[in-house]
Amino acid sequence: MCRRNFEFKRVKMLNCNYFVVVPLTNGKCHICDEIFSSLEMGRHLIKCIALEYRENQAFLIKITSEDSKFWMFIKVSPDCTLDSIDNFLRDIWLEIHDHMSHFIIENICYEKIQVDGLTDMENYKSMQILARDIFHHKLRFSYEYDYGDTTLLHLEIHSIINDDDTSLKPVLVARNNSAKIVCDSCQVTASMVCEMCMCGDDDGFFCENCAKKHQCKDCDDEPLFLPVVNSPRWGYALMKAS
Ligand SMILES: [Zn+2]
Ligand SMILES: [Zn+2]
Ligand SMILES: [Zn+2]
Repeated sequence: MCRRNFEFKRVKMLNCNYFVVVPLTNGKCHICDEIFSSLEMGRHLIKCIALEYRENQAFLIKITSEDSKFWMFIKVSPDCTLDSIDNFLRDIWLEIHDHMSHFIIENICYEKIQVDGLTDMENYKSMQILARDIFHHKLRFSYEYDYGDTTLLHLEIHSIINDDDTSLKPVLVARNNSAKIVCDSCQVTASMVCEMCMCGDDDGFFCENCAKKHQCKDCDDEPLFLPVVNSPRWGYALMKAS
């Protein structure tokens, strides 16, 4: 069954359920270039970022996809807004379509767009709130992007670190490596996936060359290619390649 030694995991994509190959992922620390698992990375970053005493502090946040295969660590200064974290997530992981999103933190829903009437209610607030006013050590919360084909992310304030970077935007400090997925035809690294074939028996992964020659096996439809990208949102829609 497992012809590539990868773990098969049932995931929901494009409104159809099927098996897709999802390799386990290590990731790279962007400060020292060392490779760790998502579990080891947090401990490493505390040492790697905060070796020296700094006057100011920042939040080290761990973000993981629902299936835990995609993850990253960002650092956020106390004056960052939730809105800037939302923009960062859209840029690096989500997509160019302007879907709605929100954070759910301690039973309060933080909306990007102020909906008249809603934002005055107790449980709905705007994302224009500062990290210092809501974050605390070990706080866990969630984020949802696109209320139709929802992508759910889990976030955790992993630790509070000494850091003098006062940037008002989140800074990426570690991220999972791209999954190595090979072309079904020639075994070089795949860059595209055929949406039509992913729903059939074939895995549907292709390199650029083989994609040009590809004809879908189980249907008369034209191939529909989506890029393979390092994002929990891959396979949904056309994205900025990362
Ligand atoms: Zn490091
Ligand atoms: Zn190929
Ligand atoms: Zn196809």
